[in-house]
Amino acid sequence: MKELTGAIHIHTKFSDGTKDVPEIIDIAREVGLDFLMFSDHHTLEPKRLGFEGWHGNLLVFIGYEINDKDDNNHYLAFNIEKELNNHLTPEEYVRIIKEKGGFGIIAHPDEQGSKIERFRTFPWKNWEINGYSCIEIWNQMSEWKEGLTKRNQLWKLLHPRKSLKGPKQITLKRWDEINKIRKVGGIGGLDVHAVHYRLFKIFPVIIYRYKVHFKSIRTHVLIDDSLFKNNSLPAFEKVKVKFYHSLSSGRCFISNFALGDARNFRFLCESGNNIVETGEDLIKNEGRIKFHCNLPLKGEVRLFKDSVLKDKKRGKEVSFSCDEPGIYRVEVYRKRKPWIYSNPIRVLKNE
Ligand SMILES: [Zn+2]
Ligand SMILES: [Zn+2]
Repeated sequence: MKELTGAIHIHTKFSDGTKDVPEIIDIAREVGLDFLMFSDHHTLEPKRLGFEGWHGNLLVFIGYEINDKDDNNHYLAFNIEKELNNHLTPEEYVRIIKEKGGFGIIAHPDEQGSKIERFRTFPWKNWEINGYSCIEIWNQMSEWKEGLTKRNQLWKLLHPRKSLKGPKQITLKRWDEINKIRKVGGIGGLDVHAVHYRLFKIFPVIIYRYKVHFKSIRTHVLIDDSLFKNNSLPAFEKVKVKFYHSLSSGRCFISNFALGDARNFRFLCESGNNIVETGEDLIKNEGRIKFHCNLPLKGEVRLFKDSVLKDKKRGKEVSFSCDEPGIYRVEVYRKRKPWIYSNPIRVLKNE
C-alpha cells in the first residue's frame, strides 16, 4: 500500500481563510504533506481556476463546505463540478452530492462551542440521513474552541497543539454504531482559517497558523500502490478515484504529528490464512483472531471492540487475541496523549 499523509478541511481567502491557495500549497510542501483537501464555504471557485490536481508531488483536492438555512449541518462536498443551490436541507444536499458521484464528509459533528461569545457552534443534527461517505471524527478548530475561557485563552493561543485531547467520546461511539450497519470512514479535519484576532482587544494574534495546523492533526490514506510503480506520477484522475474510495471505506488513520510522525503505522487482523488491514472486513471462521499493530515509535495501544476498551499494551509491535465478531479499532497514546486513531476492522459472523 502507498501511504499519503495530508490535511483535510482547509479554508482560504476564497471564503473566510487568510491565505491564498498557492501560499497554502507552498506551506504544505515545505512541511512534507502529500495531499491537501480544500473546502471553502459556498464556493468551488478555486476548482474552476484550475487549482485541483498535482502541484509537484502534492495532491490538491478542491471541494466546498455546505450548510443549511440555520448554518448548521456543515458538509464537506468533493468530486463535484458545480455548487448546489443554497437553500437545500441536509437530506437534500447529502443525497444530491451522492447522486452526482460526489464524496461527502460530515464536519465537526458534535461541536459544543466555547463560553467566549466570538465563537458560536455548528453541530450536525440530522443523523437519520444516509449517504455520506465519512465523518470528521476529530476537528482541530472545534476542539480548540471548546473549553476556551477568558482565563486560558492566552495559554491556548501560545500552545495550540498542547491543548488537544482527542476526539469526543460521543462522536466515536456514534461512528462505531454506524459502522455496525454500513462502512463510514473516520477522518481528522483541521478547519483551518488562521483567523486574525485581537487578544484583550489590543494585541494582534493569529489563531493557529497554517503551518502549525499542518504539523498537528493529519489523515493518512492507504491506497493500492500499483499506480505508483513507475517513477513518473500517475494521472490525477486515477489517483482521485482510489483516494476517495480509501477514505470512504476507512483505509486510513488519523494522527497528531505533534506527538510524533505516525507514517508507517499499521493495524492488521489475522485469522487462519486471511489477513486484512484497517478499513477492511474479516469474515470470522473457526479459530482465533489476532490483531497486530506496528508503530513507528513506542506507544500505548488500546484495542476497542464496539466502543468498549478490551485490552491495552505498550510497545512498537503489539498483538491482541480475540474471539468475538464486532467493530474493532485501536487508539494509540504517547506521553498519555492521543496520538493515533485507526479506522475499524469489522469482524463479521460467517452466516
Ligand atoms: Zn463548518
Ligand atoms: Zn470549515
